[in-house]
Parts: sequence; C-alpha cells; structure tokens
Amino acid sequence: MLRLSEIKLPLDHPEAALRQAIVAYLGVPEAQVGSFTVFKRSYDARKSAMQLIYIVDVEVEGEAALLKKFASDVHVVPTPDMSYHFVGQAPSTQGSRPVVVGFGPCGLFAGLILAQMGFKPIILERGKKVRERTKDTWGLWRKNVLNPESNVQFGEGGAGTFSDGKLYSQIKDPRYLGRKVLEEFVKAGAPEEIIYVNKPHIGTFRLVSMIEKMRASIEALGGEIRFEHKVTDVLIEDGPAGRQMRGLVLANGEQILSDHVVMALGHSARDTFEMLHAREVFMEAKPFSVGFRIEHPQTLIDKARLGKYAGHPLLGAADYKLVHHAGNGRSVYSFCMCPGGQVVAATSEPNRVVTNGMSQYSRAERNANAGIVVGITPADYPGSGPLAGIVLQRELESRAFVLGGGTYEAPGQLVGDFLAGRPSSRLGTVTPSYQPGVKLGDLSSALPDYAIAAMREAIPAFDKKIRGFAMNDAVLTGVETRTSSPLRITRGEDCQSLNVRGLFPAGEGAGYAGGILSAGVDGIKVAEAVARSILKLA
Ligand code: FAD
Repeated sequence: MLRLSEIKLPLDHPEAALRQAIVAYLGVPEAQVGSFTVFKRSYDARKSAMQLIYIVDVEVEGEAALLKKFASDVHVVPTPDMSYHFVGQAPSTQGSRPVVVGFGPCGLFAGLILAQMGFKPIILERGKKVRERTKDTWGLWRKNVLNPESNVQFGEGGAGTFSDGKLYSQIKDPRYLGRKVLEEFVKAGAPEEIIYVNKPHIGTFRLVSMIEKMRASIEALGGEIRFEHKVTDVLIEDGPAGRQMRGLVLANGEQILSDHVVMALGHSARDTFEMLHAREVFMEAKPFSVGFRIEHPQTLIDKARLGKYAGHPLLGAADYKLVHHAGNGRSVYSFCMCPGGQVVAATSEPNRVVTNGMSQYSRAERNANAGIVVGITPADYPGSGPLAGIVLQRELESRAFVLGGGTYEAPGQLVGDFLAGRPSSRLGTVTPSYQPGVKLGDLSSALPDYAIAAMREAIPAFDKKIRGFAMNDAVLTGVETRTSSPLRITRGEDCQSLNVRGLFPAGEGAGYAGGILSAGVDGIKVAEAVARSILKLA
C-alpha cells in the first residue's frame, strides 16, 4: 500500500474528487488504483479559499514501479505498519496479578493492554462508577455540594471524563500507539472519524458510555475493577537488591499483594503523592501553569478563525491556540480550549475553587472557553521539595474560594475591567457558564503579581491574532491550577520508579502525559513494561 500526502481539495468537493485526485497524482490508469482509506484530514484556514488536505493510504497495482517513479517525492511513500503488536502473553501459571491504581485514561489502557495479554489485572479506583460519579459531579455544579472522592477529578474514566474529549497530542509516536488508543475508543462507540480527522474530539456524553464498554471488555478478559477502593499505603520491602514493591493497603485496611503496581493517579491525587513521598518514593517538583478561564461568544471565535467559512458543518466550532512571551519573561498560552462548551467546577478538595472546561460532541453551546495560563517553575513555589507546587496550588485555590464568596462560586471579572485594573460589578453581553455561579469582583489578587502582569500584556496581544479577543465583556473566571502535575515520580528506561522496583509511575500524575491521548499511550507503554518485567524479557 502507498501513502500519499498533501492532496488538496476545495472544502465542498464531491466525494469522487478524492479518488480522481489520487489517480491524477499517481498518473496511472484509474483501473490500477484499488481501494483507499483516509489516514488524516486537516484543513488550511490561512488560504482565502479554504482547502482540505488529505493523507491517504492507497491499494495500487505496480507499487514497486511507482515507488521508483516517485523516489524523490516525499509525498509518496510505502504505508508504514501501524498495527499494534503485543510484547508477549501471560504464562499459563501466573504469580501475583499486576495491580493498576487509577482508572483514568492511563489506568484504563494499562489495564486493557494487560488484560489483552492475559495478565488479568486488578484495577483499584478511589471514585465511583461513571454514572454514580456523574450524579456527584452535578451535586457540586447544581447544589454546591462537593464529594471529595467522587468528582470531576476522581472516579471511573478519570479527569477527562467531563471534558471536551480532545483526542490529539504532540507526543512523538513512532509506534502508532495513539492509533491503538483511538481504535479501542472506536470499538467502544466513538465516531470513526476520530481515527482520521486532524483534531478529533468526542465530548462528555459519549465518553461516559465508551468507558463503560471498555470496563466490560477488561472484565470479559478476566480483569477486575474495584471502585471506591482508595490506596492509602504501599508495602515496600528492603532487600539486598534494593527496595521492592510488594503490595498496597486500602482505606478499608485490606492489603493487596503484588510485585507489579502501576500508579496512574492523575494530577490531583495530592494525598497519595504525600503518602508516596513519606515512603521515600523518588519524586521531584516540576513546572506547571496557573491562570484563568476566558469565555467569548463562539461566533466571535468562528468569525475570526474561519471568516466566510464560519459555521461550515465540516469545520465545526472553531478553536484557537495562542502563545505570548511577556516582557517579564513569562510565557502565557491558551490551554485546553473548548469550542462551544462550558466552564466547569473542577475542585477535588473542600473549600477550594478550580476551573476547567468541557463540551459535548456537538460543541453547540453559546460560549468558547479556554484556560489562559502562565508558566511557572519550582523556583516560584513556596518552600522547596517535591510537594512545594501542591502548596502553591492549594493556596491559590483556597484564595479563589474566598474571592468567590465561600460557596464554590468562581471569582470572575470582565476582560475590560481586568485590563483597566477595576473590579467588575455586572455582566455585559457574555454570560459565564460556570456552575454553581460566578461572583464578579477583582481577580488581581487571585494569582501572583507576575502572572497578572503577564496576562494583562498577553490578552491585548492575543487580540491582534483573534480580533475581539480582548473585548470588554469577555469573562474571566478562576483559578486554573490543575494544568498538569506539579511533580514527577521519576522512572527509568524500564518505566519503574528510580528507587522502588516493581512500582511503575504512569500518566499525567507521574509527569509522563498531558491529556487523554498521551495518558492512554503512556498506559500502553507501562503495561508493556510490566509484561516485560513479569516475563523477564530484555
Ligand atoms: P486521571 O485521568 O486523573 O486518572 C487518575 C485516576 O486515579 C482518577 O480516576 C483517580 O480517582 C484515581 N486515583 C487517584 N488516587 C488514587 C488512589 N489513591 N487510589 C485509587 N485511585 C486513585 N485532556 C485532553 O486530552 N482533552 C480534553 O479535552 C481534556 N479536557 C479536560 C477537561 C477537564 C474538566 C479536566 C479535569 C481534564 C481534561 N483533560 C483533557 C486532561 C485529561 O483529563 C488528563 O490529562 C487525563 O485524564 C490524565 O489521565 P490519567 O489517567 O493520567 O489521570
């Protein structure tokens, strides 16, 4: 099969035009070209006449001769092998079962791959099954009641369950593990287009039912998922060869013995990070970002990004990605942009306020939202040590709770007032979507001064890229503090902790992923490392 790239066609081209373009590019009789699949479809919004750009995999007769003919053309190459190959299969007599802690995208894929290899993993998740979790999450959004063990961060599906479900990443992926993740999602009910569109997303409702199906697949293969099973301690044995993982202790006192434990905790498992630190598992502070959510009318973003093509069904609601390097040395960038979505209350701890964003597959809500965040490093954290970033997160989230009135409402300010340095007292044309509500005021005390200064510089700079971005009535809510993990549980080449054999730190919480797709990919990598370790493969 041949892979052809950079095939460009007008936005509204008839279906048959793609085949015609392939035949024309190859310069062969049509009968020589068999079936083809679209590997990727993107669009070029910079052109005055919008174009779709395809990469296709084509069955064609005389492949060798064509490769020779196009030897100097980088747009015609053999299609690479993208199929997934397991590193091994579990032996018929298996010792202790591997355990995965956390059932977010990373734990889900670690568990699924281990189950597919026959290892019958036990998966422990502190939160509830996704349907019950949904009720608890709405409890905060609708009734101002937080369940610290069942919320936007904790429970079946992990942090990305109530999200925009963006499924793309900039990780290097030479083994096409991201494709394995997407293919498993499609098997579980995601739309097939996620395999080939450039920036796929699935939205919240679909994610919920997909996760249930994937849970059933793991169980059908002999895996077990135990909800409301919070890990509170680790059993580590000191031996002549170093420290070795032997098992886990749960909140109910139960012990589960295993020599292979994947820790896919997510970035919000602060109590578990503290416990691992107390047990001297190696970890170090790492950079993350803090900021606010910004909301604009989606129509403003569509118009600025897509011009006369705004509203075209193939393009959907427009997104954006912005970066500004501020004069004080800080980088400000847009984070987790959710077209046609809503801002969500994303705290997992009482008396704290955290914002994030989600949407449905249709992305049909009135507002576009995104985090506008400022990069910070361990040098900015109060104190030192691996947990210092958490101290800062908690400080900012508690301050936001107070600024919001102490009821889980988010503190907010209109962009015009934020830039002018005056408090807001009433909304304009943009109605913020955050539930349970927004308390308007002055956000300047919600973040460190350098972050506020950098954002005041960045928002007008963003307005030059997206006309209207700095509109007076756009609404800021805060605070955005869970952009990534504030620490790394460092691992070696074999994916094991630097100082505890048999402990496999994984996913976003360990500092090895940032988003649903990359967390899923990391779950696959770590499952493979566990299999290699059990099977004693090199
Ligand atoms: P998590 O998904 O955080 O999962 C960790 C799991 O571990 C949790 O379920 C938790 O309950 C469990 N756990 C923690 N401690 C313990 C313990 N002691 N015992 C047992 N279980 C434990 N990313 C995207 O790519 N696209 C998006 O559109 C997107 N939108 C988002 C919207 C929101 C509102 C949020 C909060 C995040 C969003 N993200 C998005 C980020 C994405 O969700 C994360 O990057 C991803 O979920 C990380 O996966 P993970 O498996 O590493 O961790």
